[in-house]
Amino acid sequence: MAQGIWIVAEQREGELKKISFELTSEAKRLADQMGQSVTAILLGSNIREKAPELGKYGADKVIVADDNRLATYTTDAYVSVIAQLAQSGEPAILLLGASVQGKDLSGRLAARLGVGMAQDCVDFSLENSNLVAKRPIYAGKAYATVTFKDSIPQIATARPNVLELNEPDESKSAEVVDAEFSLDDSQLKTKVAEIIQAEGAKVDLTEAERIVSGGRGMKGPENYKILEELADLIDATVGASRSAVDSGWRPHSDQVGQTGKVVSPNLYIACGISGAIQHLAGMSTSKYIVAINKDPEAPIFQKADYGVVADLFDVVPALTEEIKKIL
Ligand SMILES: Cc1cc2nc3c(=O)[nH]c(=O)nc-3n(C[C@H](O)[C@H](O)[C@H](O)COP(=O)(O)OP(=O)(O)OC[C@H]3O[C@@H](n4cnc5c(N)ncnc54)[C@H](O)[C@@H]3O)c2cc1C
Repeated sequence: MAQGIWIVAEQREGELKKISFELTSEAKRLADQMGQSVTAILLGSNIREKAPELGKYGADKVIVADDNRLATYTTDAYVSVIAQLAQSGEPAILLLGASVQGKDLSGRLAARLGVGMAQDCVDFSLENSNLVAKRPIYAGKAYATVTFKDSIPQIATARPNVLELNEPDESKSAEVVDAEFSLDDSQLKTKVAEIIQAEGAKVDLTEAERIVSGGRGMKGPENYKILEELADLIDATVGASRSAVDSGWRPHSDQVGQTGKVVSPNLYIACGISGAIQHLAGMSTSKYIVAINKDPEAPIFQKADYGVVADLFDVVPALTEEIKKIL
């Protein structure tokens, strides 16, 4: 019988990503209600020493697949290994991050296992020990409640930065075991040849705790320097609306929204962004939204926790100066 909750931990260059701890924390909350255990799967190369860290957030066991062909993510290798582990371990629930990697992996994995999958969820609960997942639909205008039928495991991905992190318990450590799997080189069709970091990128938007975003109201690419200055000061990442991206002011990787990135930072400062539904779809689950817009009727104010009706070219530099004084 299917037992326990598994999570797929994410690492990049040997460092565990925050989503791994968020998933472990959520799995622990659910597993406690079910009276079952939490197992994390960690894939990578020379990654074993990172495994016990997951125990502090609630993992009872970490299954480590350590192989140099797993050092960087590739769909075929990761799907193959995780599918083998899930088939032999038969977890009841399998959670992944709705990160770029997790979104790619989860769909393929669900297809490989022939089971159901709920993408980009923001809340989980249980009904008779079955997973109930809540996910935004219609560009965030409504929520769908998803349950699974004859699905072992029930697979769901969680939007990064949304699930509550457990306070790490330094006294806890997970049992670490080596994964049993086989990887046939002839089946691996992709290989990462090189990773080129985006210029100037600090933290990726999807993982950022703070985002300062600019839209058409920025009036031109040269003016983003005032956002960059503020962002540097508060350790934020700069984002943009599609209008700004379509105008060639910012790269597409900066775009927040339905056809850009879905973000959930603690703080989202929207500067000169009207708040079109497609933009809101990408940022409305942010914890605190601050809008700076000179139009009091701009729809962004309906979503904002704090709104400043003013010219951003006055407010942003003034805000930067004030923050400099207190830092
Ligand atoms: C299928 C589809 C997908 C889309 N996907 C996305 C997406 O992923 N992301 C996205 O962002 N959009 C997306 N859009 C576009 C979206 O509909 C809007 O057109 C876009 O978000 C508007 O960008 P904006 O708010 O920067 O520009 P505008 O709507 O033009 O708003 C500019 C705002 O700046 C304010 N402003 C101007 N000057 C100043 C100033 N000096 N100080 C303060 N405020 C000022 C104005 O009052 C205005 O509210 C999509 C559209 C479609 C049809």
